[in-house]
Amino acid sequence: MKNKIFSLALLALTSQVNAASVQEQMEQNPAVKTAVEELVIANHILYDQNAVDGYGHISVRNPANPNTFFLARSVAPSVVKVEDIMEFDMNGKALNGDTRVAYGERFIHSGVLKTRPDINSVIHGHASPILPYGLTGTTLKPVYHMSAFLGEGAPVFEIRNFAQPNPDTDMFVSSPELGDALSKTMGLQYFVLMRGHGYAAGASSIKMAVFRSVYAIQNASIQAEAMKMGQVQYLTPGEAATAQATIEKTIGRPWQLWSERVKKTQ
Ligand SMILES: [Zn+2]
Repeated sequence: MKNKIFSLALLALTSQVNAASVQEQMEQNPAVKTAVEELVIANHILYDQNAVDGYGHISVRNPANPNTFFLARSVAPSVVKVEDIMEFDMNGKALNGDTRVAYGERFIHSGVLKTRPDINSVIHGHASPILPYGLTGTTLKPVYHMSAFLGEGAPVFEIRNFAQPNPDTDMFVSSPELGDALSKTMGLQYFVLMRGHGYAAGASSIKMAVFRSVYAIQNASIQAEAMKMGQVQYLTPGEAATAQATIEKTIGRPWQLWSERVKKTQ
C-alpha cells in the first residue's frame, strides 16, 4: 500500500515535471515561445472562422527540433491554452512522459510533418462546405485568387484503400500507417480531402496554414454556388501560381484581423 502511494506520488510528480517541459522550452528559446503562443491563438481563430468546431486541430513543428511538433491535448480548439500544448515525435508518440489524452488523429500531423520539410504547420478539420468534394469526385479547384494555392485541385484520401485487412474503418486516421498514407496522397500539394471525413492543410507557417484553411473552405462554398449557375471558370495553373505568390505575401493582414477578434472575446 505504502509502495502504491509512493508510486502514485512519483507519477504525479513526474507528470508535473514533464508537463512543464514545453513550458521550459518556451522559457529557454524565444522561437519556441512564439510558436506555442501563436499555436494557441491559431486554435481560437480556426474556431472563430468556422474552420473547426469542437473537433479539429492545428500543429506546429518545434523550431528548436525539426523532429518534434507541438499539438494541444484532446480538447476543443476554442479552449486551448498554453498549458494544453504537448510535444510529439514523428510517429505521433507523446514526449516528455506526458500521459495526458492526445488527439486520436495526431498521426495526420506526424505523417505530413515527417515527409514534408517545407511544411511546418498542419491543420485538420471537418468544415461542411469541403465535404461534398471528397464524396462526389468533383475536384476542389481554385475559383479565386484567395485560394490559389489549391493549384490544379486537391487530391482525395480514400481510407478504404489503405485500411487492411478490413476496409470498413471508423474513418479516423488513427495510426502512423494511415498518417503516412494520407501524406502520400497529399503528395507535393498543401491540401488533401478526406472522403467522408474532412481535410488536412499544410503550410510553412501557422499563419499560412490558417489562411489556407479559411480560404479553401470559402472556395468550396463559392465553387458549389458557381456550379449551380453553369460552367465554372477556374484559375488556370499559371494564374494560380502567380496569384498565390502575390496573395500569400499579404497574410499578415487577415491574421491581424482574426487574432484581434479572438483576443477581444477572451
Ligand atoms: Zn477528423
